Amino acid sequence: ATVVVALDGPSGSGKSSTARGVASRLGLRYLDTGAQFRAITWWMLQHEVDVHDAAAVAARADEAVLASGTDPQAPTITVDGTDVATAIRQADVTGAVSPVSAVPEVRARLLADQRALIGEGGIVVEGRDIGSVVAPDAQVKVYLTADPAARAVRRAAEEGGSDVEATRASLLSRDTIDSGRATAPLTMPDGAVHIDTTDFTLDEVIDQVVALVGA
Ligand code: C5P
Repeated sequence: ATVVVALDGPSGSGKSSTARGVASRLGLRYLDTGAQFRAITWWMLQHEVDVHDAAAVAARADEAVLASGTDPQAPTITVDGTDVATAIRQADVTGAVSPVSAVPEVRARLLADQRALIGEGGIVVEGRDIGSVVAPDAQVKVYLTADPAARAVRRAAEEGGSDVEATRASLLSRDTIDSGRATAPLTMPDGAVHIDTTDFTLDEVIDQVVALVGA
């Protein structure tokens, strides 16, 4: 089978840019699993499901139909045929995604979607539980981290100039929920290579991951 690269880490660690860069350079597909959790969350908000009511979220976990386009140069995501690429980055979704992601039925449903997309491999997959749960047999596992201050600056810039302090508070709050939940908490997977990206440029991090795939 062809290669699966699993890239895990907290928000703002450089996962998305690194994953897309590695996939582009190596001619692999790219899957952003965070976008899938965001898309389910968007659907819950649209349907006025109380995102803090785990039973209510669980009851409707299977309804949304997701489609993820895996071209690293132009990834896409739709829910019930609607392009949600912009909507899933808005503050309402960002503020609701961690409690929705903690619901086991949501994770189970997306796990099936993710395994189907991974298929025979040839893909870089980014998320929180890829090396541990989604693709434990991935040939290459990378765990990216960065200082909270660096992460907040990057994420605020990605959002087009959000307030850095508010972004930092939002990141740290999601870290706490994502690391503390019972199902698939964010941890460094067995066999992962840890890269702290704080003092590296994006190209340097991409180089390091590409070297691991070649090794
Ligand atoms: O990576 P991103 O910040 O877009 O992820 C949004 C949220 O989705 C995370 O804070 C986490 O709650 C959830 N997530 C997850 N498991 C993944 C990917 C994302 O629980 N594999």
